[in-house]
Amino acid sequence: MQSFKIFVKGEWTTSQSGQTSDDLNPATEKLVATFQRGNEVDVGNAVDAAEEAFDSWSETPPPKRGDILLKVGRLLEENKESLAREMTEEMGKPLVEARGDVQEAIDMAEYMAGEGRRLLGHTTTSELHDKFAMTVKRPIGTVGIITPWNFPIAIPAWKIFPALICGDSVVFKPSSDTPRCAVRLVEILEKAGVPKGAVNLVTGPGNTVGTTLIKHPRVRAISFTGNRETGAEIIREAGIKRFGFELGGKNGAIIMDDADLDLALEGVVWGGFGTTGQRCTATSRVIIQEKIYKKFENMLVERVRKLKLGNGLEANTDVGPLINKSAQEKSANYVSIGISEGAKLLCGGKTPKMKGFFFEPTLFGECTIDMRIVQEEIFGPIVSLMQARDFDDAIQIINAVEYGLSASIYTASIRNAFKAVEEIEAGLVYVNAPTIGAEIHLPFGGVKHSGTTREAGIEGVNEFSETKTVYFDYSGRLQRAQIDR
Ligand code: NDP
Repeated sequence: MQSFKIFVKGEWTTSQSGQTSDDLNPATEKLVATFQRGNEVDVGNAVDAAEEAFDSWSETPPPKRGDILLKVGRLLEENKESLAREMTEEMGKPLVEARGDVQEAIDMAEYMAGEGRRLLGHTTTSELHDKFAMTVKRPIGTVGIITPWNFPIAIPAWKIFPALICGDSVVFKPSSDTPRCAVRLVEILEKAGVPKGAVNLVTGPGNTVGTTLIKHPRVRAISFTGNRETGAEIIREAGIKRFGFELGGKNGAIIMDDADLDLALEGVVWGGFGTTGQRCTATSRVIIQEKIYKKFENMLVERVRKLKLGNGLEANTDVGPLINKSAQEKSANYVSIGISEGAKLLCGGKTPKMKGFFFEPTLFGECTIDMRIVQEEIFGPIVSLMQARDFDDAIQIINAVEYGLSASIYTASIRNAFKAVEEIEAGLVYVNAPTIGAEIHLPFGGVKHSGTTREAGIEGVNEFSETKTVYFDYSGRLQRAQIDR
């Protein structure tokens, strides 16, 4: 049985706690490996190492930092298949999706390597004579990166790669459900030549490793992806720091009566049940115009009943397991809540009698906006259907939640499409495409309770750098802004 170590100051080592935790395969409930149960001392050592590395890493010319990231991309590419297989084994998503997860990291490595030759500031005018004004990007310092398990290589890559290209050093705390993917990613960073201390990995519980990291006075920024409640706790506990939050979602798809229903069907099934509904952008509400409601409901039920549950390593599996026992229980609990609220269980709803943390793909019909299954993030294979009278009603329904991450509309009308883009309260809007499917060179993030930041693309650089404003006065005399005009 493999036992993974933590990575501090360029050395793979055991935790000062002397303890390990188990890493389970959610499809078989078998032990994959054990990993270090890091503690406060490990975090302190990792922050010291990151600080020590910062001076020389931040002074390394950004294109040289980019060369290392390009190498990271190549190594990810070379190891794509084995990484994807290990990912499926560790967190359950079907192999095809796990390959996509690794591909996202490859894309991000290439994109951020290119940023090494940009990291653009801007120049602008001054209100005074003989004065030049500009901005430059500067590194932040040591950043703490805390990630979930559902994209166990892609999400860390979305944070670590921009942090590195901006010249920051990193202490990385991954989810306790996917420590092996984190170890594999850091092994690749090490092999590609990231210098000692510039990236440190401490595995272990959120309530020790995570909280120590967020509260650490010398950690200058926290980039966190996870659920809303954890995000709220971090805001309360962390003190004054820079924050990047990517939180939960309750994403809706609107199906108008002029939509291509076959296309919408594929989009809703992929958006709702891909990654077993465990994507922050998963389609968990479908808002269907009255006239086609029954027809589309029937189409969905027929299609969802055919989805094959199974181990993600098997070729014919459509839907893998949930991440762990408590996620399985959470889905079962939400089915009971939905039934007690008066929603109509159309299909699924049960925990199948098989090994692994599986749950049947589930559809609820006749849902209303006051129901908990419509308001709360379930993070499982449960989709709620609702009727809308017309476009305005659909917009009102889709916006009637506290979250605002992703949304989609299926329609043939250009007007509906443009009005939806204007009026839906979400960070991402897809037209005639599912709520999932972000590309790494475009900004990603939510509004309302779904987060505070945009990641990826140029916004990733903004998240991980400080903007410094610089004035050059070459007039040779005191000039007072706003006064000497
Ligand atoms: P959690 O919030 O439970 O955990 C996320 C990370 O935070 C884990 O590494 C966890 O460690 C750590 N953590 C837990 N408690 C604390 C704490 N008190 N202080 C610091 N760190 C802590 O989320 P999940 O892992 O369950 O991920 C699912 C959630 O993530 C969903 O809500 C989903 O919507 C959201 N998400 C959002 C995305 C976005 O981009 N908006 C993308 C993907 C997911 P440990 O594992 O040890 O508990």
